[in-house]
Amino acid sequence: MTSPARLPTNAPFPPDAIAALNRVIEHTSPTQRSWLAGFLAGYEAASGTPATAPAVASVVRPALTILFATESGNSEALARKASKDASRLGFAPRVLDAADATPADLARTERLLVIAATWGEGEAPARATDFMAALMADAATRMDKVNYAVLALGDRAYAQFCATGHAIDERLAALGGHRAAPLLECDLDYDAPAATWLGTTLPALRGKEAEPAPSVIHVDFGAVGGEAREWSKSNPFEAEITDLVNLNSSRSAKQTVHVELSLAGSGLTYLPGDAIGVAPENDSAVVEAVLDAAGLAGDTALHAALVSKHDVTTLSGHVVRSFAELTGDPSIKDLAGDPERLADFLPGRHVVDLLTAFPNKLTPAQLTGLLRPLPPRLYSVASSQAMVGEEAHLLVSAVRYQAHGRDRVGVASTHIADRRRVGDRLGIHVKANPHFRLPSDPATPIVMIGPGTGVAPFRAFMQERDAAGLAGKSWLFFGDQRYTHDFLYQLEWQDLIERGVLGRIDVAFSRDQDAKIYVQNRMWEARRDLHRWIEDGATLYVCGDQTRMARDVHTALRDIIADGAGIAADAAEERLAAMKKQGRYLLDVY
Ligand code: NDP
Repeated sequence: MTSPARLPTNAPFPPDAIAALNRVIEHTSPTQRSWLAGFLAGYEAASGTPATAPAVASVVRPALTILFATESGNSEALARKASKDASRLGFAPRVLDAADATPADLARTERLLVIAATWGEGEAPARATDFMAALMADAATRMDKVNYAVLALGDRAYAQFCATGHAIDERLAALGGHRAAPLLECDLDYDAPAATWLGTTLPALRGKEAEPAPSVIHVDFGAVGGEAREWSKSNPFEAEITDLVNLNSSRSAKQTVHVELSLAGSGLTYLPGDAIGVAPENDSAVVEAVLDAAGLAGDTALHAALVSKHDVTTLSGHVVRSFAELTGDPSIKDLAGDPERLADFLPGRHVVDLLTAFPNKLTPAQLTGLLRPLPPRLYSVASSQAMVGEEAHLLVSAVRYQAHGRDRVGVASTHIADRRRVGDRLGIHVKANPHFRLPSDPATPIVMIGPGTGVAPFRAFMQERDAAGLAGKSWLFFGDQRYTHDFLYQLEWQDLIERGVLGRIDVAFSRDQDAKIYVQNRMWEARRDLHRWIEDGATLYVCGDQTRMARDVHTALRDIIADGAGIAADAAEERLAAMKKQGRYLLDVY
């Protein structure tokens, strides 16, 4: 066996370094040398220093564009993971945000991977709306050269499951693109199916004639530093609850709890704007009702599994279809096969309602097969680590309502508000939200609109500025039902105002008078000032209820801009769209 080549004496190192390197290289295996090659090839890029000469002989790597359309960051994170997988397979990947992409740009690429989220009732992510409009336009560029595959993220709780991914997949085919792999639909537990799909789709996109993977092992520089990266959705950190207090008064109609979690020993870090994912447990009474309706009452092992692992509430068309299939019950088949009846039946109903309406005795395996894994719930973090160190604070509104004659509760919110105490633990992970950050220049004015629990990230923003001693221009619009009972963090805002950290606060208490007053009414009253702030370059943040509040606040902003600038509503709408693109109008809504 020949020993590996030694470094020549004229290598650009001092003699003792050449001897040391030779000692290391002599005892390496081929795999270790491939790893080192990958490490050195990526070293300059990872350290930010421009390389003066190529680190390894250049190899032709097939280009791959990975386009993502993201709302909450999942598609973006998955695109970055796909990029690492693709590098390992010898591609030269480029990750592209749909916010910055045009169809003409995509038409030039030969290999395209699309990872697209669907938001709410079948909508494309807000950042991707311009791209979607251009792709769907009659004048869209042909894609004859493009081999593509689409991974669609969605939530089966919504009828238009994965609609954005399907729309892109079908449109690329209609424009002449070649589908290299069938579209994959993913529910909230997308990690494992996405990894399997990428494992077969990336080689399919490489094609036969492309170069084989070079003998360089891709090195993940993010992991080289040994950072604490092990806590995740599937492996949550069990954080101790160190404080849990209801911020509403005893006479309030609401219960909004402030929760403090200890991150000690976890190495977890977050930034203001990020969210904390909480692994909830189901209410035992709800689980009992489901077991009872499935003819499985008294199965304690199954009860325990359903409490912590399965989504026993969300009812979707998919669940109804699966139930029809496994029971063969003709009346359920009728419902499952009739989209109109299904659209009438689903709203407000849970799994227990289906099982009660169509009584069928199930086996434990049939019942668990019907239910998806219990997904974590995301809460915008209400603290800054610059202020609270190894803690994370959350603001959680307990959800309780009646529907179809039953009391309903929010899974995670009542798990925290009703069934957790100080000293208990809560499984958590950090979910970065890079598109909801304080401006990089602290002198940029900020306007924060956050009624109810929407105020959470703004407490984090203010703590961050307070800790750094920054008092840039800031303005908070807060609203809730009653001044006396529901003014969340009232004393903290007053203190921040007194110390000049928060510049201005306008409040709207909706139920202190006969006619409702909402944050957008206060915004309209202050429209001259607000318009001046916008003209001065302020960044606008909106957090909270998506369907009503965020929509109405958007209309108010449009009217304020139209009024202030003396332009038509359409033109004001365009200005807001431009601000969104520039990252000056940011939403964190749910
Ligand atoms: P709400 O958004 O329910 O209420 C806050 C204030 O906004 C109230 O004064 C309310 O008035 C008012 N409001 C109602 N409609 C509008 C509107 N169209 N425009 C402006 N303001 C309006 O507060 P919460 O944050 O407590 O609840 C928000 C929703 O989000 C709830 O359904 C909650 O369950 C859910 N949720 C909460 C999470 C959390 O706790 N972090 C996470 C995920 C979801 P009024 O009620 O008098 O009409």
